[in-house]
Amino acid sequence: MKFEKFKTFIFDLDGTIWNLEGIFPGVIEVVERLREEKKQILFVTNNTFFSRKELIEKINELGLKLGENELISVSQVINEYLKLKNASAFVIGESLSEDLAERIDKKGKPDFLVVGYEKKFNIEKLREAYEILKNGAKFLASSYEKIFIKGNEVFPGTGAIVKAIEHMSGKKATILGKPSDYMLSFLNMFVSSPMKETVLIGDELESDILLGKKAGYYTILVKTGIDKEASKKIKPDFIIDSVSMI
Ligand SMILES: [Mg+2]
Repeated sequence: MKFEKFKTFIFDLDGTIWNLEGIFPGVIEVVERLREEKKQILFVTNNTFFSRKELIEKINELGLKLGENELISVSQVINEYLKLKNASAFVIGESLSEDLAERIDKKGKPDFLVVGYEKKFNIEKLREAYEILKNGAKFLASSYEKIFIKGNEVFPGTGAIVKAIEHMSGKKATILGKPSDYMLSFLNMFVSSPMKETVLIGDELESDILLGKKAGYYTILVKTGIDKEASKKIKPDFIIDSVSMI
């Protein structure tokens, strides 16, 4: 496989370039080489475990130089969505609250319930979310991500929280992260190459690869994260063991 023909490389973060604690071997070298070759590099993430600022700081500290304009995060998509509607929100998720600080409801009548990853999610929070929806708020969420892996440990993903709220309230969330059309149109504002010269590399079929397919990009599944092979429904164009093979 020759990767030279691609001009824009879009990388997922979690499970693709790092495991939330360390960058995978060879990733820094690949990104540096692509930069020397003047390729456009973007990173796209549904991660709400960390705020945008924390993500950029952590990844930079680990030695992968990641610029503010190179990171497309779901919190930006949610922020834009709320801004366009001039709407206020009640936010579940410590880091997401930080990213959406300007949109947080102060009147006690939020237009939207926004759900991201909350480390201390519990029954009380679930009751609160239920009440807010019952009072007429609309329901937004970052993703249906089932699990995430930090270091070598598996944690429940944001989807586990979203599904609990959906089940209790009977209302369905609108997902704004990958693979949604909201994330796709936001991402496409930054991609400078035609779709045939754009490649998306990620570890999850249902978020990364599906988004790439919708966009018409070339898609590569890496085996360093959650999915290790194609499914019946979602077939990446190519599968590699890790980003180091690019
Ligand atoms: Mg991932």
